[in-house]
Amino acid sequence: MSVAAAIQRIKSTLPAHVELVAVSKFNPIEALQEAYEAGQRLFGESQAQELVPKAQAMPADVKWHFIGHLQTNKVKYIAPYVACIESVDSLKLLVEINKQAAKIDRVIPCLLQFHVAQEETKWGLTQDECEDILNSEQFANLRNIRIDGVMGMASNTENEARIRADFAQIARLFAYFKIHYFASSPHFKHISMGMTHDYPIAIKEGATLVRVGSGIFGERMYQNHYK
Ligand SMILES: *Cc1c(COP(=O)(O)O)cnc(C)c1O
Repeated sequence: MSVAAAIQRIKSTLPAHVELVAVSKFNPIEALQEAYEAGQRLFGESQAQELVPKAQAMPADVKWHFIGHLQTNKVKYIAPYVACIESVDSLKLLVEINKQAAKIDRVIPCLLQFHVAQEETKWGLTQDECEDILNSEQFANLRNIRIDGVMGMASNTENEARIRADFAQIARLFAYFKIHYFASSPHFKHISMGMTHDYPIAIKEGATLVRVGSGIFGERMYQNHYK
């Protein structure tokens, strides 16, 4: 299936309140251009050194979401380009995003990434870690970041019940933090969850952003020059 056909097919299944993040990591610029010509404007990248040249090459109306683990020393490179950093998992990172955003007079939208999957290796916050961040004096003083919601990944398994439970847990965390910390913020409204193999389940559990890569661009070629 062509990139354009895959985008049309996926979009036709999305409810109106769900936006498609086309995860273009490891794909060449030509593939992104094909998606752009098919009407796609929201792209997800997981590495700073890949996002920056792509953002410079693609039209200015593309919105870029950073979805990978972000090291603090890379924030300065992506700060001018990102519409959202979905993968915030520490206060240290938020402080650095705030600092780099202030330098260029921006407010950068962020999502809080939670760890709910069974695997040990996935990044992300626990509920307690997140509460510690939000209750800290340092957080209260950040003027150049904005928290727009939460992000997470389900366990890497074929077990649908497990996947559903993981997404329900992410949605529960969203509801908890909405009520207790962001009740007065109209911006705190996003739940980013669901990838190629599990996004229909994520939508049923409340996703507002789904991040689909291989389902659009095909299996990633990790041996290409972006690796
Ligand atoms: C790569 C990636 C995706 C997309 O995964 P696919 O299985 O290719 O759809 C989604 N979210 C994150 C955080 C990713 O790193």
